[in-house]
Amino acid sequence: MNHLHLPDQKHSVLSRRSLLRSAAFLAGGALLLPTRLLGASPVAGYFRDYPFKLGVASGDPLSDGFVIWTRLAPYPTEIDYGMDPEPVLVSWEVAEQENMNRVILSGTAIASPAMGHSVHVDLRGLRPGREYFYRFRAGDYESRIGRGITAPVVGSPLDEFRFAFVSCQHYERGYYPAYRDLVEQDPRLVVFLGDYMYENNPNRFNVRRHEGPEPVTLAQYRARYASYKLDAHLQAAHAHTSWAFTWDDHEVDNNYANDQSQDLDDPEVFLRRRAAAYQAYYESMPLRSSARPQGPALHLYQRLSFGNLLDFNILDNRQYRSDHPCDYDGGGPVVDPQLCSELDDPARTMLGETQHRWLANNLRSSRARWNVIAQQTLFAQFNRGRNGQTLYSTDGWGGYPAARDRLVRDIANSGATNPVFIGGDVHANWVTDIKEDWRNPLSRTVATEFVGTSVTSGGGDMAEYDLTLPQNPHIKFIETRERGYNLCTVTANQWRTEHRSCPDDGILDPDTRLTTTRSFVIENGRPGAVLE
Ligand code: FE
Ligand code: CA
Repeated sequence: MNHLHLPDQKHSVLSRRSLLRSAAFLAGGALLLPTRLLGASPVAGYFRDYPFKLGVASGDPLSDGFVIWTRLAPYPTEIDYGMDPEPVLVSWEVAEQENMNRVILSGTAIASPAMGHSVHVDLRGLRPGREYFYRFRAGDYESRIGRGITAPVVGSPLDEFRFAFVSCQHYERGYYPAYRDLVEQDPRLVVFLGDYMYENNPNRFNVRRHEGPEPVTLAQYRARYASYKLDAHLQAAHAHTSWAFTWDDHEVDNNYANDQSQDLDDPEVFLRRRAAAYQAYYESMPLRSSARPQGPALHLYQRLSFGNLLDFNILDNRQYRSDHPCDYDGGGPVVDPQLCSELDDPARTMLGETQHRWLANNLRSSRARWNVIAQQTLFAQFNRGRNGQTLYSTDGWGGYPAARDRLVRDIANSGATNPVFIGGDVHANWVTDIKEDWRNPLSRTVATEFVGTSVTSGGGDMAEYDLTLPQNPHIKFIETRERGYNLCTVTANQWRTEHRSCPDDGILDPDTRLTTTRSFVIENGRPGAVLE
């Protein structure tokens, strides 16, 4: 018998026969749940059109379960997304085979208007390291079938694990052939590292167009997420396997920092906007209810473990950070450290004290062979100045050097084996050595870093980056001209990262084929990746 822990949902384990009976009741529009338990009466739903147009997703895999998600939206990009403001009953079922013949777990959930008619079911009681299939029903309609994969038991022997990490999928810039390839490569997990959605105004010179103006309200953010989620390749990738998430800036506002917007709005006004954006984010992703937003706060950072092989520490470096230094707010700012003493202020934080201590503690207590620090941006120091000048971007860790140094020290002192950073944001493939002392190329390499290129978002001018490489000896590789994602195969002895890529103009066709343009490996116990 499966043990269920579903705080938000009425749930039950039904025999196949009684499930079919319930489904018949649902289809007939009968109310199955005692309304006194629910506050408001859910309706079975009479939809004006197919309500599962946004697809299904699974996320946050644990060794005994994962979250399954959908959102009812017959007209996804319209302001009311085609739903009346009343709660709707949704049933779900889980099976071990894709044909869904033998349902092992089922139940019902309420899609409420306050949550944008999204459904998040925290499945528990499943077996470790296994794939499961799931689907939803509402009214007379059935969703597509999705697959989720539970993690192996924490600390148990695991020979190999394959995962992908992905970032920056500007919808207007191109299509998502990366996700078609990702499904074919069949990783066990997808880690999304930010810029799932871009908040920009529509631009008619791009291949696809954002609908509506830059979002500010909850309804506008919902519609913007919905337009992204209608992409067929993205939906297929969500249905294919379980994902884990962090966000970067564009899910809310370009280059925002905590309560500071790009345009320096009144923080109180911006926090209301942030609350709307975080709410729409939660409604749109298969996140556990521990991430359910409260006003402008959403607890996103978490650790996910895979056997004795991998720990993922997934960070949030947007919500708790100090403001950018020296009033270089918004707009891709750079600073000359000689002209900005605030830059080195040790009180300035990237993660916030609580998250930093949580991470340091995770690393100290970890027994995993590979300790992944999954976060949004480039971690290594990068001097982008010319002609002897020193310039640092302030929107990434370059704007928070004291916080970065502290984290490097804590990693070095933690005893955690094989720390590996993975990141996004810069729309290019990077490989770097994380040094104990950036000024001394001979100092100890504390960790390895891979930054993955964008799914679509535009990369920078390669010639300019080439010019900066000699003054950044710990940066081993930069390639801005390819679009795609990084695919990692990890064993006890070796970590391999493949750059799955197509040329920049490959994203003009949704079915462009990606290839492995190169791969880098890390040997166990030897930080620093090497081109294979
Ligand atoms: Fe981006
Ligand atoms: Ca970004």
